[in-house]
Amino acid sequence: MRKQIAAANWKMNLTINEAETLLYTILDANLEVSENQKVVFAVPAPYLTLAAKKVTDHSNVFIAAQNIYSKKSGAFTGEVSVTMLKSIGVDHAVIGHSERREYFNESNEFLREKVKLCLEENIVPIFCCGEALPVREVNQQNQFVQTQLEESLFDLSADEIQQVVIAYEPIWAIGTGKTATSEQAQEMHAHIRSQLAAKYGEAIANNISILYGGSVKASNAKEIFGKPDVDGGLVGGASLVADEFVAIIKALK
Ligand code: PEP
Repeated sequence: MRKQIAAANWKMNLTINEAETLLYTILDANLEVSENQKVVFAVPAPYLTLAAKKVTDHSNVFIAAQNIYSKKSGAFTGEVSVTMLKSIGVDHAVIGHSERREYFNESNEFLREKVKLCLEENIVPIFCCGEALPVREVNQQNQFVQTQLEESLFDLSADEIQQVVIAYEPIWAIGTGKTATSEQAQEMHAHIRSQLAAKYGEAIANNISILYGGSVKASNAKEIFGKPDVDGGLVGGASLVADEFVAIIKALK
């Protein structure tokens, strides 16, 4: 059965001292993360080693890179590879966050290579998709997200696709305080799952966690996560506040 997941995306925030305090405070908050749940912290690259060591004694808690490069090694100054991540105990990576797509021009084709590479190294890709406001305004969001899935994920085998976590993040709701309604989230998640079912069959589609991202906070998490096709959230701003993120974890099904 698919997992319910609370994933924190710290983005480019926090000093090492602030990061340690935040992580330790959350982990010390008497968290009970059950076997059907996962908590993931996508931390800035310089803190990955420390964070990965810290979570080893916490069941069902994982560390993610916020990005990887599309090659395993070589002359790519400044980039971080999946092989490096694996060697320090990092087992998840956020792939194709809308900020990477927008500011670093990451295309669906380029992201497909990254997803493949993650799977080769047994790193769980948290694949982000989602439409900008003008796309939603003309009611093209389903087709837009479908194309993202088709171009980046749909050449994966049935075994591979089941290792992927999908995060639906409508761009107009990221960092804006504007959340999709739980109905809008459910509608898109059901659409994504129906596309997965059409390509891979219903049993496999039902095994894939689909997270919602976009201004999730303690006050709205329960309602959004309560929808049948929403399997938790990818959380930016609210994951930087210990009490907020702990409440979000507690809102998981
Ligand atoms: C994100 O960074 O993926 C995100 C959803 O941010 P926020 O929760 O701040 O909207």
